[in-house]
Amino acid sequence: MARYTSAACRLCRREGAKLFLKGDRCFSPKCGVERRAYPPGQHGQGRTRFSDYGVQLREKQKVKRMYGLLEKQFLGTMNRASRMKGRAGENLLMLLERRLDNVVFRLGFATSRAEARQLVRHGHFTVNGCKAVTPSMHLREGAKVELREKSRKVARIIGALEALEGKSVPQWLEIDKGAFSGVIKSLPAREDITLPIQEQLIVELYSR
Ligand code: SF4
Repeated sequence: MARYTSAACRLCRREGAKLFLKGDRCFSPKCGVERRAYPPGQHGQGRTRFSDYGVQLREKQKVKRMYGLLEKQFLGTMNRASRMKGRAGENLLMLLERRLDNVVFRLGFATSRAEARQLVRHGHFTVNGCKAVTPSMHLREGAKVELREKSRKVARIIGALEALEGKSVPQWLEIDKGAFSGVIKSLPAREDITLPIQEQLIVELYSR
């Protein structure tokens, strides 16, 4: 399965915003956006003025990169969101939030979505009792995500769970740290997604 493998901080600098792609580093002074708050490349420090199309494109790229998708996958998700009832933009965000790698990240088993994706690919989780290795799997209401017995001593997962101490998971999720599992209590609503995203711009981009 294809994925982006180059420098993650470049992506944040390109979007001019923290996309939190690298776990703990994103909260340290080593963060690329904090150290060099301008786009990467030779002309990064030049003046940039975006057209309407440019603004829409940047919003789409930002969301795509935040959730770790490539163009084809993102387009597929957008098409699915457009076919669903309701607002396409909100549907898109709901579908992205319901991805297995995002749920693993939101539950606190990983410090970033990229790490969550790798943990899923390496077979550390089950969904409703069955081993799940597909990060793009969309979970339904009531789905139970559980860390497999043999993975309960993996240091990076334990470290991520310890870092969660004192923090809460989104209200549409419920975690049982003792049982190394989490449940989707309800499907996420738009107000549950507090990320600074203007999904309408993405819909406009794809409606051109
Ligand atoms: Fe983005 Fe994190 Fe890199 Fe900062 S450290 S630029 S938030 S990926």
